[in-house]
Amino acid sequence: MPEGHTLHALAGRLGRAFASTAVEVSSPQGRFTDGAALLDGRVLRGASAWGKHLFAEFEGDAWLHVHLGLIGKFAVHRRRPADGAPPGHEPVQGQVRLRLLNDRYVGDLRGPNLCAVVTPEDVEAVHARLGPDPLRPGADPDVAWRKISRSQRTVAELLMDQTVLAGVGNVYRCELLFRHRVDPFRPGREVRAATWRAVWDDLARLMPLGVVAGQILTLEEQVDAAVAELESSGRITPPERAYYVYRRSGEPCRLCGAKVRTELVAGRNLFWCGRCQRRR
Ligand SMILES: [Zn+2]
Repeated sequence: MPEGHTLHALAGRLGRAFASTAVEVSSPQGRFTDGAALLDGRVLRGASAWGKHLFAEFEGDAWLHVHLGLIGKFAVHRRRPADGAPPGHEPVQGQVRLRLLNDRYVGDLRGPNLCAVVTPEDVEAVHARLGPDPLRPGADPDVAWRKISRSQRTVAELLMDQTVLAGVGNVYRCELLFRHRVDPFRPGREVRAATWRAVWDDLARLMPLGVVAGQILTLEEQVDAAVAELESSGRITPPERAYYVYRRSGEPCRLCGAKVRTELVAGRNLFWCGRCQRRR
């Protein structure tokens, strides 16, 4: 499932492609025809993300709310009309639920978990039930800490709960717990406040790198290289995908050599090193 960095990068792409332009909105697949008709021809004011939820604001208090779910994809491209076809007739491939179109760009949404036209009050309600998102300016880690520090659920479960913390998925969960040597099975109320603060500060540092790289970066040498490249060129070349523990079940821990373990927690496979991760 895409994690928060993917949605924030997507909001950035949608904003750059469509903001302040009148957008043709359609549903080539036909499953979003009524919603598309409500937005068609309106000016898109901007796009934003909160955790794994994407919002695009159109003039007239109409908002598009998208959740990609497990398999959803929202591709934004410069327009490439088929040879000889009139404008607006870019080839449709696959089941396009929603298509955004202006003079220069086309955005095709496929397979989302949710695609709906909502009111500003609906947007507020979604924001209100989500936990703080480390990628949003002004996000307050104490809001998450109040829930974590009172919970008997394990920290591995809590980090995946979008009402506690928004945007973190399984990769960031596994990797952050390893980076801070945290025992994933500790109840939230036994986790030290300093540990939570360090995890949050780390997310606030790593996730923006993920947005720019288009990929989750957690290995310290990859993070250092990304920071250096970002400072010198404003870009990050995505490195080979490699993690400390994620999907490394049975392989040796990069630090201690013990076998990385896995177990189903909160519906997803948790990966961790039982020898390194003992802190709370
Ligand atoms: Zn280890």
